[in-house]
Amino acid sequence: MRWSRKYVWVNHNNGCALEHVVIAERALGKPLPPFAEVHHVDFNGTNNVRENLVVCPSRSYHRLLHLRTKALSESGNANFLKCRHCKAWDDPLNMKTWATANGMVMKAHHVACNRSYQKDRFDPVKKKKQRDLYRTMPR
Ligand SMILES: [Zn+2]
Ligand SMILES: [Zn+2]
Repeated sequence: MRWSRKYVWVNHNNGCALEHVVIAERALGKPLPPFAEVHHVDFNGTNNVRENLVVCPSRSYHRLLHLRTKALSESGNANFLKCRHCKAWDDPLNMKTWATANGMVMKAHHVACNRSYQKDRFDPVKKKKQRDLYRTMPR
């Protein structure tokens, strides 16, 4: 047996395998599907008791699981999403949400937060201040 940074490796079928994969496959009674990943409920990659393992059908599902766990622990509600501007967790019904390129993981912001963000970005007074600041910088 050897150790990687965060997982346990075991001898398996004359080779080396991740212990949580071996245990998940034993529980399933068959090999994991090609894109499946094994999630550790307590985020401890070396705690490979059956109850700590959840088989995810894909990487994006696995990511979603992490996101929901984080939402639950930080906001008390697994369905909440984090506003990318004010960094507060909130009900997706109060926000504008969109999926990232890979699909399942949702991004979100409050409409009001985004409006003030866009306003700041394109505010000509602020822009001019930044320009003036730049001009006064020593070169
Ligand atoms: Zn995980
Ligand atoms: Zn916000």
